[in-house]
Amino acid sequence: GATIGILGGGQLGRMLSVAASRLGFRCHIFEPGAEPPAGQVAWKVTTAPYEDEAALTAFAESVDVVTYEFENIPTAALDLIERLRPIHPNRRALAISQDRLQEKAFLNGIGLSTAPWAAAEDMASLEAALATIGTPSILKTTRLGYDGKGQARIKTPEDAPAALAAMAGAPAVLEGFVEFSCEISVIAARGLDGSVSCFDPGENVHRDGILHTTTVPARISPALRSDAVLIAAKILNALDYVGVLGVELFVTPKGLLVNEIAPRVHNSGHWTQAGCTVDQFEQHIRALAGWPLGDGSRYADVEMLNLIGDDVARVPVLAKEPRTQIHLYGKAEAKPGRKMGHVNRVL
Ligand code: ATP
Ligand code: MG
Ligand code: MG
Repeated sequence: GATIGILGGGQLGRMLSVAASRLGFRCHIFEPGAEPPAGQVAWKVTTAPYEDEAALTAFAESVDVVTYEFENIPTAALDLIERLRPIHPNRRALAISQDRLQEKAFLNGIGLSTAPWAAAEDMASLEAALATIGTPSILKTTRLGYDGKGQARIKTPEDAPAALAAMAGAPAVLEGFVEFSCEISVIAARGLDGSVSCFDPGENVHRDGILHTTTVPARISPALRSDAVLIAAKILNALDYVGVLGVELFVTPKGLLVNEIAPRVHNSGHWTQAGCTVDQFEQHIRALAGWPLGDGSRYADVEMLNLIGDDVARVPVLAKEPRTQIHLYGKAEAKPGRKMGHVNRVL
């Protein structure tokens, strides 16, 4: 069987490795951090920094295709790998999702709506941005933010200096605050042959900036459901994408706005493990391998609940629920805010 290289050894890499091994593939994980969760289940792990060219070269030469489970891989490492093996999703998809300014410009450029936005890198540009976008608004670092980190709310113009200070000198984007009725996401996939398959939109609830639950079906109209799927397919085609993509959307009275995209399997797609014949992890591996995609249809209503930090202590009780599927990531320490596992409750 072929070998799949995965950059990043967190829980997403772990669940990709499990899906890949079920299809007869081996996974080689490249991860700078010690004892990565994916290392417990993968065929091979290389622990080295992204600057280690010899380790990266050996990694790339040992695999047939390379994918990744997180966005923030240094460009130089990708340049090196790309000379040796194909990378899916492609570099453009990655570059766009690494930078909120590029991401919003791309989305607007293909005709999709986002929150109003403007670049802000210093007090002068932030004041100019506030003059057009107004308050309330949110200032976000353009790069490296996740789980709501690197964001500051601006309720009134007086909050601007503190918000800018919270960016710690990093370039930022000001976004108008969206009064959404709910948040949904579409997990979508595109195969090597260009075929597209979308999972049913899920409804997401965040707590302290971190995803708390995803529930399917989302409580949205059939028309919005179609819109959401069409948006995801448009993004996939525009990027000539191969693999699974997560698209986060705000539901507003004027329709859907795209919040952000993630060029990988996505936390809000974990429900597919209990709701679909082919889940998002198998779907991603199928796409990379040039296999036919699963059709994404859903045979159950599901609630996915993240186990963050001490939530993991609830597992003995959750395990008594008759239709609850437990996923633990094998992480040693339950630090606050750390994703330790999730459960899928079939409703
Ligand atoms: P993730 O972990 O999903 O990558 P992130 O750190 O990249 O998160 P965002 O998805 O941009 O952050 O924002 C986190 C949450 O904050 C959103 O899911 C939403 O609830 C809220 N939020 C972000 N931007 C806006 C906005 N412009 N208007 C209203 N709420 C927002
Ligand atoms: Mg994000
Ligand atoms: Mg998000």
